[in-house]
Amino acid sequence: MIEKKFNLCGIDITPALPLSEICSMGVGGNSLYLSRVKTLDQLMKAVEICESSDLEYKVIGGGTNIIASDSGFSGVIIKNETSQITIDSARGRVIADSGVFLSNLIVQCASQGLGGLDPLYGIPGTVGGALINNAGSHGVAISDFARSFTLMDKEGPKTYKVEYLEPSYRKTKLKFVKKKPREVVLSVIFQFNSRKQEEVMSDLKKYKTIRQERQPLGIKTSGSIFSNPSGTDKATDDKSKNLSAGFLLESSGAKRLSVGGARVSKKHANWIENFNHATASDVRKLIDLMRESVNEKYNIILKEEVEYIGDWDLSSDE
Ligand SMILES: Cc1cc2nc3c(=O)[nH]c(=O)nc-3n(C[C@H](O)[C@H](O)[C@H](O)COP(=O)(O)OP(=O)(O)OC[C@H]3O[C@@H](n4cnc5c(N)ncnc54)[C@H](O)[C@@H]3O)c2cc1C
Repeated sequence: MIEKKFNLCGIDITPALPLSEICSMGVGGNSLYLSRVKTLDQLMKAVEICESSDLEYKVIGGGTNIIASDSGFSGVIIKNETSQITIDSARGRVIADSGVFLSNLIVQCASQGLGGLDPLYGIPGTVGGALINNAGSHGVAISDFARSFTLMDKEGPKTYKVEYLEPSYRKTKLKFVKKKPREVVLSVIFQFNSRKQEEVMSDLKKYKTIRQERQPLGIKTSGSIFSNPSGTDKATDDKSKNLSAGFLLESSGAKRLSVGGARVSKKHANWIENFNHATASDVRKLIDLMRESVNEKYNIILKEEVEYIGDWDLSSDE
């Protein structure tokens, strides 16, 4: 029935797709359906169909900040693959569909002499996912350059100033929201700075190198598991003052921890690597062990930056 409705609108839909294939952590059982949407019209239509069918659904971008459960998701995962970018380089104004890859946006702007989000270069995932999480790096967050965005809610699309999201360190008021109807980011308007193209490009190279040196890239991960208790990602010379999750985990010995096919990265103690067919349950148990190790040593309870999706039977994990 639902497939027919999607097909009638020319929207792609596939039954029983493993979430491990579309989320960067590489874990997760099947979603009932997966729909890939290519245009904002398709995105809005897909959401409308799910709402009117009273079917559970979730719009995702790159799936780089979510950990899907082994029992999967009993609804429709709408994968946002919208891709339009409009750049007004003279005014520094850029409009991007929420499905645009953030790093692609940054490179395209750089090639037209616009900069600002350069420290975020290399963050995987989409503009929409980044806005919901207020993704950031080196003390700069997407909300510093996003001016407004169009949101679809039960009354249809409406444009809001970025302040509506109440953005703070790795958070907005729309992050972790589970209730329906969902609010879906359609597009984002940015205001960037004019800069010399060579300078921005050279900065992008610098930030790429930093990531390569500090992060386990090319392996299944979902980036930082916990957010920094300090509420900032600005580096300070004194790591203990900075209270970064990575420092707390490393000094608590978390790099020794592993469960099944999941282990704490030797390169970065706040990252988990799925090195050998890990299950979501392996990852979740490892996250609990990491949290315990910091709590035992520092009496600090780390909070997840990643989001769990799907149906989790936590009692069976004990
Ligand atoms: C290698 C690696 C490096 C990383 N480095 C960083 C880093 O430096 N800084 C940082 O902040 N993060 C980092 N991350 C985490 C992650 O990449 C970011 O949070 C990213 O912005 C998430 O975007 P996404 O499109 O993958 O979101 P997803 O994981 O797909 O979704 C995240 C949440 O946003 C919601 N969402 C997505 N799109 C929409 C939309 N259009 N409308 C409404 N809700 C939506 C989803 O439902 C979900 O709740 C890293 C991850 C990896 C794997």
